[in-house]
Amino acid sequence: MAGIYFHIPFCRQACHYCNFHFSTVLSYKEKLVSAIAKELFLRKDELLGQTIETIYFGGGTPSLLNEKEWHHMIDALHKNFDLSHVKEFTVEANPDDLTSQYLQMLQQLGVNRLSIGVQSFNDEHLKWMNRAHNASEALHCIQHAQNIGLSNISIDLIYGIPGMDDITWKRNLQQAFDLNISHLSSYCLTIEPQTVFGHRMQKNTLQIPADETSEAQFLLLQDTASANGFNHYEISNFGKPHHYALHNTNYWKGIPYLGIGPGAHSFEPGMRKWNIGNNPNYIKAIEKGDLPIETETLSVNNQYNEYIMTGLRTEWGVNIDEIQQRFGESYVASLHKQLQSHVDAGRVLFHHPNYTLSKEGKFLADGICSDAFIL
Ligand code: SF4
Repeated sequence: MAGIYFHIPFCRQACHYCNFHFSTVLSYKEKLVSAIAKELFLRKDELLGQTIETIYFGGGTPSLLNEKEWHHMIDALHKNFDLSHVKEFTVEANPDDLTSQYLQMLQQLGVNRLSIGVQSFNDEHLKWMNRAHNASEALHCIQHAQNIGLSNISIDLIYGIPGMDDITWKRNLQQAFDLNISHLSSYCLTIEPQTVFGHRMQKNTLQIPADETSEAQFLLLQDTASANGFNHYEISNFGKPHHYALHNTNYWKGIPYLGIGPGAHSFEPGMRKWNIGNNPNYIKAIEKGDLPIETETLSVNNQYNEYIMTGLRTEWGVNIDEIQQRFGESYVASLHKQLQSHVDAGRVLFHHPNYTLSKEGKFLADGICSDAFIL
């Protein structure tokens, strides 16, 4: 099994919290699409012998691509890879791009899942975050998609927004569930240094909510999702049964994927690779026939830490029999020792052979994982 991830590094405008790799200069979009098509050709043998199950277009904003650009990429994809076993084809999209016509075009290309960057149903919050859409566009695009039969829809929502009270958060959540979506990804607002919010923090003009406020909103999220029939299967992800994100689940389970486009990461057991995160340099290299890729071979400790970090965040947790088999007895002993205080405090649960995070432990996932790491 394997997946292919595409990074489309363009956005209409910069959201004030975002530190992903993207550019708002759209003039060389077509050139970049040609480079992506060529990268597919240059890397067509990397997944030889593997069954491609998932295709994922993320970014940036893939929904900024026009019909001609989509066809160029999808044709190259079909020419270079066997897509006959693809089960899930996801496109990340922003509400202001998703007209009925655009949605139909995506559907005709084979897209069967949308991940829509709604972030909030509150216009004040959307404006504050510098999102390019409003709440009404978010509502309408979901309805348009459902009307044409594109019903496997995930949306993103942000909590921990300064000044957002629990009532507004609950209203946001209920609005999402009332739309009959099948999946929700929800993240606490984090302030990254090289962003508008990061600069405001440095100047003391932005204050983020206390941890207790964000934790209360996270608990509200878990309760509301559960009451609406959604399983909390990864820290930030909630799905209806049979509607978990397959591409992301495969990633958390250590299944290989090929990353195409500037800044895209690839993974194969024991190795990580990533493309240069600079659009003009990426285009130049690919036009010359070079692959602008850096590679890191993972040490055994790094492979173990990665297994802990991705596994513990999911509902399946980490499995000590698998750790025994892949890494040996000393790693099992270390895990038991490192997690004991968290088990005693009820933040981690142990049901042989799996360790999982409790409801409260999920809010502290990063700290618990780093306690379990071997450095
Ligand atoms: S649209 Fe997405 S990728 Fe682009 S700036 Fe906003 S959050 Fe970042």
